Amino acid sequence: MEPMKIPDSKATILIVDDAATNIALLSNLLQDTYKIKVAKNGPKALEIARSQEKPDLILLDVEMPGMDGYEVCKKLKSSSQTNNIPIIFVTARNDVKDEEYGLNLGAVDYISKPFHPTIVNIRVKNHIALKLKSDWLEELSMIDGLTHIPNRRYFDETYEKKYKETLRDKKTFAVLMIDVDYFKSYNDHYGHGKGDECLTHIASSLQNTLQRPNDMAFRYGGEEFVVLLQNIDREGAKKVAANLIESVHSLNITHEYSSLQPYVTISVGIAFKDHDCMIDKEALIKMADDALYDAKEHGRDRYVEHFTE
Ligand code: GH3
Ligand code: MG
Ligand code: MG
Ligand code: MG
Repeated sequence: MEPMKIPDSKATILIVDDAATNIALLSNLLQDTYKIKVAKNGPKALEIARSQEKPDLILLDVEMPGMDGYEVCKKLKSSSQTNNIPIIFVTARNDVKDEEYGLNLGAVDYISKPFHPTIVNIRVKNHIALKLKSDWLEELSMIDGLTHIPNRRYFDETYEKKYKETLRDKKTFAVLMIDVDYFKSYNDHYGHGKGDECLTHIASSLQNTLQRPNDMAFRYGGEEFVVLLQNIDREGAKKVAANLIESVHSLNITHEYSSLQPYVTISVGIAFKDHDCMIDKEALIKMADDALYDAKEHGRDRYVEHFTE
């Protein structure tokens, strides 16, 4: 997922056209309101669209030497990395058939040259507003409604990405599966509302305990959380697990019905994957689950580590 735009930061428009005069016309029209990027051919447009800082809208010329605009559009729409960037064709072809063809490729709009500046301005403004709104909804759909930390959907997406990186760059990877101890009896005695409150405090304290910018905590489901750590050694992963357990101790949430402590505790299962290991994605999660099961079996309020080299 891309980071959400802060409300008053400028949206970015990529102008793609082989003719410098057309680029100049559109840039002049839009540069006061938007951040402008330009590409004079298809491959350059693809490169910019696939980069870290993606445009929020693409104004795409159809007729260009080499790769034409239709081809660029097809390529952008066929990849999940770029298919949510709205595309407007800006072209001298104004046959209905051309317009139909362009829209069928997934473009949101079609503007014929010579264009009327006011109309271009309004259409661009409308499409940008829709794009920012859909980014915002996407962001919302990735955040857990109760605890306000990343949710299961966010986890699935991030895990897939980090897992691939881990194999490609031979990084170490640790998955920490976390479950609240005796939480059923917490709910039974204090009520579901208090239970929810407790989960919210635990989520914040897990998140706040993580120190490095790329370490992430997610609500995995119910009263289970998961933490992903890359580029860490075994001792480091255990240290993080111990810190997470300690952070929940420090919340000091009274739990008179725990058979363990007078306050709420968690158990952590660590699955550690070393640099060269090729364990598959599901197996690594299973390993963390098994480790968590062992932590429960061995008395709860602790971590157990399983590792693979
Ligand atoms: P253990 O130490 O073995 O994990 O015992 P436990 O009681 O925590 O385990 P169990 O899986 O039996 O119970 C989990 C409970 O978590 C069941 C359910 O009532 C509670 N729970 C799951 N999701 C939520 C939630 O969103 N809010 C609240 N308040 N409770 C939840
Ligand atoms: Mg052209
Ligand atoms: Mg559970
Ligand atoms: Mg539990």
